[in-house]
Amino acid sequence: MGAKEKLRRSLIVTIDGPAGAGKTTISKLLAQRLGYRYMDTGALYRAVAVAAVEARVAADDDAALAELCRGMTLDLRETGEGLRVLLNQKDVTEQIRTPEISMMASAVSARPAVRSFLLDTQRALGAQGGIVAEGRDMGTVVFPQAEAKFFLDADSGIRARRRYEELKMKGAAAPDLETVEREMVQRDHNDSTRPLAPLKAAADALVIDSTHMTPEEVVARMIAHLSAIS
Ligand code: C5P
Repeated sequence: MGAKEKLRRSLIVTIDGPAGAGKTTISKLLAQRLGYRYMDTGALYRAVAVAAVEARVAADDDAALAELCRGMTLDLRETGEGLRVLLNQKDVTEQIRTPEISMMASAVSARPAVRSFLLDTQRALGAQGGIVAEGRDMGTVVFPQAEAKFFLDADSGIRARRRYEELKMKGAAAPDLETVEREMVQRDHNDSTRPLAPLKAAADALVIDSTHMTPEEVVARMIAHLSAIS
């Protein structure tokens, strides 16, 4: 197939999995190959976390979180410099990527007010198809009708190292590898044990373990699957 892989239909493709499994790299690459849009739903939860920190709203204060969400506008915008995240029209793309915001995102994402607010936002953004949506509950809750579902996993040591290298590349005050791994394990635990939309593979998802695979290999595997079903 050519640079823009030709699928017969405009699909909703979901990619779920734990932190550091390679979802973002793979989703961007796959969207580019298919000529699809890319939706990073973790970025939306992270933006809500930034709003909560700025408004000094506690992660377990449901009433205040609901109020915060009611007055909030969120948008994902494709630009020449990649996907930008806009919170109340302000660009927070860099601000959402700190370890503190990762933990806060995991905490607020367990709250019903936040999940129901973002459910509508995500469905509106993905409605027309032709999209690769990455997150924790894309195949199970947000787009249960999606035609193509993947669950991307990898060994936790490898996931921590990938995330550590990524933070180091961004420079500044990157935490050490042990801290990154500890926080990642904690976040996965929170995400997979919460009662609402826990992280898990949809029954009809294709599970791919990327521990010993390059991003190119993972994408090739996905495209082979999509070609077979589209
Ligand atoms: O994917 P990322 O690490 O950016 O996501 C940040 C946090 O947002 C996750 O740890 C998870 O708690 C939450 N999240 C979620 N559901 C999604 C995407 C992200 O609960 N669909």
